[in-house]
Amino acid sequence: METKRFGTTEQEIAEAAALLQDGEVVGFPTETVYGLGANAFDAAAVDKIFKAKGRPSDNPLIVHIAHRQDVDKLAQAVPEGAALCMEHFWPGPLTIVLPCVDGVPRNVTAGLRTVGIRMPDHVTALQLIDAAGVPLAAPSANRSGRPSPTTAEHVLEDLSGRIAGVVDGGAAGVGVESTVLDFTGDRPMILRPGGVTREMLQDVIGEVGIDPALASGVGTPKSPGVKYTHYAPQGEMWLVEGEQDAAKIAALTADAQAAGRRVGVLTTAERAGQYRADVVIPCGKRSDLSTVAAGLYEAIRQFDHAGADVIYAEVFPETGVGLAVMNRLRKAASHRVIRA
Ligand code: AMP
Ligand code: MG
Repeated sequence: METKRFGTTEQEIAEAAALLQDGEVVGFPTETVYGLGANAFDAAAVDKIFKAKGRPSDNPLIVHIAHRQDVDKLAQAVPEGAALCMEHFWPGPLTIVLPCVDGVPRNVTAGLRTVGIRMPDHVTALQLIDAAGVPLAAPSANRSGRPSPTTAEHVLEDLSGRIAGVVDGGAAGVGVESTVLDFTGDRPMILRPGGVTREMLQDVIGEVGIDPALASGVGTPKSPGVKYTHYAPQGEMWLVEGEQDAAKIAALTADAQAAGRRVGVLTTAERAGQYRADVVIPCGKRSDLSTVAAGLYEAIRQFDHAGADVIYAEVFPETGVGLAVMNRLRKAASHRVIRA
């Protein structure tokens, strides 16, 4: 199949929407990462998402809507805290998990009785959903296991020939996926940290929990997708934490190079000049973690392009959006950590 590339004119969005109405899947930009959309009420179309990505069938999809009232087509009831969150954070990088109505195809929810819903804060995404006239089930538009795409090029790198089209709306802004917030338990709980931080949520609805399996890496996470290998570069990635991290990274680099390995270092603008590795990728500025989030997946992809065999990465404070950054980095590194 030839993957058509669309711009963001009204005409091109209408063409992409027509593909969606025909039961095809189309990549599109959101403010977090690029999504791979299909009509959420068309089980056969949704199935094409799983095939194109190679996504495990027990990993549910987030349903993207353009209007608040579309929640009622998907969810049974909206608790007060969830309604407050919609008011405050939509459109935005917050997915809200609610009890699901019967009409939602089972492959969308991976057989769960709950559904994740969000309204993206991206004019092209909203126009596309509107033009399609249906909510779009959309996971990130990468092959399963790869870093999420933050540009249309990334989408094509992974899925060219496997999907009907992609709408090119430039680079995604936030860079990490939405926060997944569950309202089906005793109290609201973050199942996946993301663009809306725990601190921001607590300001609006009070105490918010974090799925204990997330922080510890033990137990079964409530969000099925969280348990899979994800975001990993082809080279072996290690997180280096501690006060002496720069010196440790320098020593590790020298050792690995002596052993004939091509070494990558993931750092930030502040310290990029310090390292003598084969591939040094600065990812945003440490002084502003939102820039690190925005550049993270592109940086990971660059190590693949440069053929790094081993990658040493600096770590970040786990507050604000740093929680989401470190969650992705730990997964990219398969939880390998070196203390310095
Ligand atoms: P992706 O869209 O590829 O970033 O993945 C969507 C994430 O949302 C995965 O981690 C899913 O497991 C999670 N998710 C989607 N729907 C639900 C749901 N109903 N309950 C729990 N987690 C969900
Ligand atoms: Mg994903």
